[in-house]
Amino acid sequence: MEMILCKLGEVVLKGLNRRSFEDKLLSNLRRRVAKCGSFRVYSKQSTIYVEPTAEGCDLDAAFDACRQVFGVVAVSRALPCDKDVQAIVATAKTYLHDELSTARSFKVESKRADKSFPLTSIQLSQQVGGALHQAFPQLEVDVHSPELTIFLEIRDDAAFVHGPAVSGAGGLPLGMGGTAVTLLSGGIDSPVASWMMAKRGVALEPVHFFSPPYTSDAAKEKVVELARELAPWCGRMRLQIVPFTEIQEEIRRKVPEDFFTLIMRRFMMRLAERCAEEAGARAIVTGECLGQVASQTMEALRCTEDVVSLPVLRPLIGMDKEEIVRVSRKIGTFDTSILPYEDCCTVFTPRHPKTKPHLDEVREVEAALDVSTLCDKAMAGREFLRIKP
Ligand code: ATP
Ligand code: MG
Repeated sequence: MEMILCKLGEVVLKGLNRRSFEDKLLSNLRRRVAKCGSFRVYSKQSTIYVEPTAEGCDLDAAFDACRQVFGVVAVSRALPCDKDVQAIVATAKTYLHDELSTARSFKVESKRADKSFPLTSIQLSQQVGGALHQAFPQLEVDVHSPELTIFLEIRDDAAFVHGPAVSGAGGLPLGMGGTAVTLLSGGIDSPVASWMMAKRGVALEPVHFFSPPYTSDAAKEKVVELARELAPWCGRMRLQIVPFTEIQEEIRRKVPEDFFTLIMRRFMMRLAERCAEEAGARAIVTGECLGQVASQTMEALRCTEDVVSLPVLRPLIGMDKEEIVRVSRKIGTFDTSILPYEDCCTVFTPRHPKTKPHLDEVREVEAALDVSTLCDKAMAGREFLRIKP
């Protein structure tokens, strides 16, 4: 039966930790492909094999799923056949017909795990290469930079002809980097920021601040939808919805307008840190990007960071909007992100937000508020939603 091969990325560089990285990757892959049928998932020499063990497996779906698993750099398929040159040539001719007909140059690379196979790897490559060259006369042999490389593998049970490889998600296995709280709004940036940290192996605990009646149920639904779109990459997550109305109203009542956004963001950070403590998360992720808006200058970031001690991870900090949009399209959140919505950040936007706030001034302004009681109430009013791929 045809099967899937996943090439490991940076996992192979991890030295002594390699075993645990590989185990994590195997269990992440198993969980993802289990939905597509019954598969045996095992690793051998920097490759993970995803092999159907019964009829009725959805190989296309499993293939797509493998491409969304962090830690895998490339995915291909392979077809088994008898362990003799004739069978291998015949299999390659049909299995790789399209590639063989369109490429101009090629080479064959063989790997021999079964040492009792009568030909050496080089002999096998030469014989199969020769036969394919005859069958597809437009193909030049080019061992240095061929357009098409055909991989053959001789294993104990069968020979395998590999199909062309496509890129995987890259990164590190989810869960290897611990857990972080990610601040998820309905915009373009925060889903991308979340995805980028998940790609580095960080499991996510998304938190959303919600200000009814200023923000609608549709706006909340949109965030739930974004979390769902992230789930094929980031795995199952628990989304926390934190009520934010009272905090915002209190800010509007007691704080000079110029400071609205800054003080509001300080509350978001405090609440995020509380959620993190509870979830055993060791960092806070935001979609902030230097200079994008008034609250994202270095001075403003200093003021919002002031209230937390956990590291604040801002993977988009040096990216242009265009680059962020490109990732957003690639991961599948863009179309949802651009739906019209209100965010609590846009509800009470000051006309002249401070771009170069002073920390002392911000702390002084904030002293008018009963910070801890407001935070306690918001935490107590949370709603928890299970998000599944
Ligand atoms: P985005 O496109 O992610 O909404 P943005 O450029 O609109 O970001 P801001 O609205 O200033 O920027 O928010 C900066 C970051 O703060 C967001 O990327 C997100 O991480 C967090 N954030 C903003 N609003 C919310 C919210 N309602 N709930 C949770 N996090 C939020
Ligand atoms: Mg926003």
